[in-house]
Amino acid sequence: MAVKSSRRRQRLQASATEQALLELNETLEARVLERTRALAEANLQLQREILERARAEEALRHGQKMEAVGQLTGGIAHDFNNMLTGIIASLDLMKRFIAAGRIGEVERFADAAVASAHRAAALTNRLLTFSRRQSLDRKPLDPNQLVNSLQTLFSSSKGAHIDLSLELGHNIWPVNTDTGQLESALLNLMINARDAMPEGGTLVIKTANQYLDARELSTLEAIDSGDYVMLQVSDTGTGMTPQVLAKAFDPFFTTKPVGQGTGLGLSMIYGFAQQSGGHVSISSQSGSGTCVRLYLPRYHSPEGKTQA
Ligand code: ADP
Ligand code: MG
Repeated sequence: MAVKSSRRRQRLQASATEQALLELNETLEARVLERTRALAEANLQLQREILERARAEEALRHGQKMEAVGQLTGGIAHDFNNMLTGIIASLDLMKRFIAAGRIGEVERFADAAVASAHRAAALTNRLLTFSRRQSLDRKPLDPNQLVNSLQTLFSSSKGAHIDLSLELGHNIWPVNTDTGQLESALLNLMINARDAMPEGGTLVIKTANQYLDARELSTLEAIDSGDYVMLQVSDTGTGMTPQVLAKAFDPFFTTKPVGQGTGLGLSMIYGFAQQSGGHVSISSQSGSGTCVRLYLPRYHSPEGKTQA
């Protein structure tokens, strides 16, 4: 009898445990389901937020682009208008003088029209360089030789109040680039430096061989590690405020009076550096001068390679 009841107890206990396990199993399933639903909901919410942020960023980028395009078109239209006015007015005067039989006096108007047309052509050239559509007429050249030839040109136009000094490195590597574009870039930098030193000062042009490590450079545009020739133009002039510095490369950004600045010098240099596989950087402080560094990739001549 006692054996019977203890067996029954055991059976009862077993079924209770079974029941409890079953229940646990059921609620577990429900809990897992519940948790999965919550996670899915959170995930969906996250996805929505990511999408929303991407949309906001895209809108901001688009806004900035449109602003830049507006600035660009406005600037070009303004400049071209000035040049066309010069051409049209000169042609108009020529017509009137011819009608009045004063043929001998026509030439100066023709000259003025041609000068204006040339300025317009130079502007389109700079724009093409900036938009990187201008093909570079590359050839190997010695940077020091180019700087030397520019020195003669620049010395005559810089004015006595500015001291020009050259610090040309030894055994500077050759570069493979467009001579005309590089000349124009350096001249632009020299003129910027001159404009920044109305009271006088020192302009230094320096060349050096330099290895650039891409991992150490925090540039906006990607740059390859390797050997570069650095061409540096520095001045002891007015320098730039952080606000001016931030916009200095923008096309048509100028702080100079109308007729004196086009705001295309640095943007053209930027485009040229990009197209050459190089890099350009500016450091400047208000009141203590500016230093612009242009890096062009070292040229390895085919003969040099086979010898090495
Ligand atoms: P621009 O010379 O026609 O104004 P740039 O593109 O050459 O156009 O230069 C843009 C602006 O950057 C200048 O108007 C000036 O404010 C500033 N800047 C450029 N170079 C220098 C410099 N060496 N020192 C001080 N400011 C400079
Ligand atoms: Mg300039």
